[in-house]
Amino acid sequence: MQQIRNFAIIAHVDHGKSTLADRLLEITGTVEKRRMQNQLLDSNPIERERGITIKLAPVRMHYQNYILNLIDTPGHVDFSYEVSRSLAACEGAILLVDATQGVQAQTLAHYQQAKKLGLTIIPVINKIDINTADVTGTQKQISEILNLNPDSILLVSAKTGAGIPELLQAVISRIPQPSNSQITNNQLTRALVFNSNFDPHLGVIAWNRMVDGQIKTGDKIYLLGTGATASAIEVGVFTPQRAPTQLLSSGEVGYVVTNLKDLSLLTAGDTLTNLVTMNQVTALPGYSPIKPVVFVSFYPTEGSEINTLRGALSKLQLSDSALTFVPEFSPALGNGFRVGLLGLLHADIVQERLEREFGLDLIAAAPSVSYQILTMNDKLITINQASALPDPSVIKEIREPMLDLSIFVPQQYIGPVIQLCQNHRGFQTHIQYLALLVQLSYSLPLAELIRGFYNSLKSVSQGFATLDYELASYQTADLVKLDVLIAGDKIDALSQIIPRAQAPYLAKNLVDTLQNVVPRQNFEVPIQASIGSHILARADVKAYRKDVIAKLSGGDQTRKDKLLKIQKKGKARMKRVGRIDIPQEAFLSILKI
Ligand code: GDP
Ligand code: MG
Repeated sequence: MQQIRNFAIIAHVDHGKSTLADRLLEITGTVEKRRMQNQLLDSNPIERERGITIKLAPVRMHYQNYILNLIDTPGHVDFSYEVSRSLAACEGAILLVDATQGVQAQTLAHYQQAKKLGLTIIPVINKIDINTADVTGTQKQISEILNLNPDSILLVSAKTGAGIPELLQAVISRIPQPSNSQITNNQLTRALVFNSNFDPHLGVIAWNRMVDGQIKTGDKIYLLGTGATASAIEVGVFTPQRAPTQLLSSGEVGYVVTNLKDLSLLTAGDTLTNLVTMNQVTALPGYSPIKPVVFVSFYPTEGSEINTLRGALSKLQLSDSALTFVPEFSPALGNGFRVGLLGLLHADIVQERLEREFGLDLIAAAPSVSYQILTMNDKLITINQASALPDPSVIKEIREPMLDLSIFVPQQYIGPVIQLCQNHRGFQTHIQYLALLVQLSYSLPLAELIRGFYNSLKSVSQGFATLDYELASYQTADLVKLDVLIAGDKIDALSQIIPRAQAPYLAKNLVDTLQNVVPRQNFEVPIQASIGSHILARADVKAYRKDVIAKLSGGDQTRKDKLLKIQKKGKARMKRVGRIDIPQEAFLSILKI
């Protein structure tokens, strides 16, 4: 164990974590030169295309007689739980700060998390090769905002490799070796499951940090949390591919292939132990379970694809335990699934994977959050979509989820940012001046974050503001359900729960937006927004004069169908409701106002 160092790289998104990992893999000779590619640990095609890390990725490296276990982590706030899981498997963390950006919201958030877990932190300034790099300013920020000793800061370029050998020395000398936990009998085995995946050929694979004892191939294992029993079919380490070894012993990071076929029997945060001695060990602290916070309904544009969608979601769930889904029926859109997700980026990635990996064509309804409804007879029920809201006569209170939001912004943009937070029903809880930056803390409804807050924040701050948040409690608010009727049909997937005070404004804007996205028909289409039976706003889509069928006076039906089909192909991603094809944009228009 003296020769092992376990560490993660943490940073705000784009500060260079995955690129730094590349250099470490290269310099330690872990990956052959000819196999080297940029952001090598980002193995998913969507990660590679978008240049972002979504999943944590562990790798074992050898350097000067030391075993270095590195875990690369995502930076985006939707995937913060991946960071917390990684950190729990390590003794130290490299905190990377981009010299052209300085300290940003997730720099601080991840730093605080690492500190809370008692990790040794190595502050590193990256991208010193860029000529606009402000090394002195960034050093000052790190020492003032994060309270870290300026002498402990290392300077590197993950691109050119400058400073990387010194960084590896610091990892070895500053990060403590792993130690056994306090249990006295060293024969007992405990491993923290920090992640898992499902391999179609091998079954469920546990990614572990060994805390006590060892696991060998052939061992009977037991999971303290789920009570599942399994066999260790293979054990090994990540190089970054799976590489089998004889055994895994305390301090090491590796994997165990189990014979389990159901991923729900092996959840991240569980403690893995030996079946023989299972009664003598207690569970490791583990993690709090991840809960979806944003809900999006997906409907296949062709109703017959519903089973493909169900199969696809089940498959995705095997590698993405944060994803939940329940079947849903919309009178307007037919069968679909209500999918629970970690945030808008997560939603976007899941939709892209469903379409690319499974060839589905989907309509996504506007995302919503979950609400708690206190009924007149004091029952608390949770709903995940506006159309499930009970009749107002039985509602005593509606409660919505709140966020503790932290925004980092250069001082010159503070005015517009405060204004924006107020417009989005934010309540300021704290303000702190940190050198040239300001940290604004707000309590703000999650629903507002979804409704365009993030984009507006970027635009009012010219891209400089960064944000981090965590879910806080539910809070009572004066909310109502806004319904939308198109050509007299209520489109439940367009219903929204909104603040009563903003209802007239939102209703007007929504019908105006819809008027521009609903295609013209050969009859006039009224679009109405209402609360109950009270119509708040109306806009009409004028009749379309050219009618492809009208030309064929009489004509036989197959010819008509063919023409309609051609016309339908032209407008991809529409869903027929009553007599009208409603395009995808319509379902997302609430987000645009
Ligand atoms: P991550 O989101 O923290 O994993 O960041 P990435 O490693 O994906 O890097 C984000 C971008 O910064 C990529 O375009 C990298 O090529 C670039 N980058 C990372 N490190 C350096 C560096 O030291 N110098 C320069 N010039 N660019 C860098
Ligand atoms: Mg990355």
